[in-house]
Amino acid sequence: MLIADSGPGHVGSPKPWMAKGACKGLTSVFFPPSAERPQARERREALARTVCAGCSVMIECRDYARDNHEYGFWGGESEDERHGAGYRLIAPIGIRVRDVG
Ligand code: SF4
Repeated sequence: MLIADSGPGHVGSPKPWMAKGACKGLTSVFFPPSAERPQARERREALARTVCAGCSVMIECRDYARDNHEYGFWGGESEDERHGAGYRLIAPIGIRVRDVG
């Protein structure tokens, strides 16, 4: 989930914790390609989740993504999981159609 593979893939001002992300160089793991198939998404997100599990800034990252309605996989959470936790995407084009409660 990185911009120029140097930190989380936000568009705004970088935050200090972003320099510590374990996802440097792994942009394609944290953001989906267009027309990604469900099975490919599952595999990609499982890998992203593994990377996040070993990241020292996971909580900061998760909270940032929730507060800023980010797309992609952040802080151990997929878009679906953030959406389901009540942090709605502004334009949820990546959300799969299902009941999230
Ligand atoms: S928690 Fe995950 S997405 Fe966030 S900075 Fe760490 S590795 Fe990257």
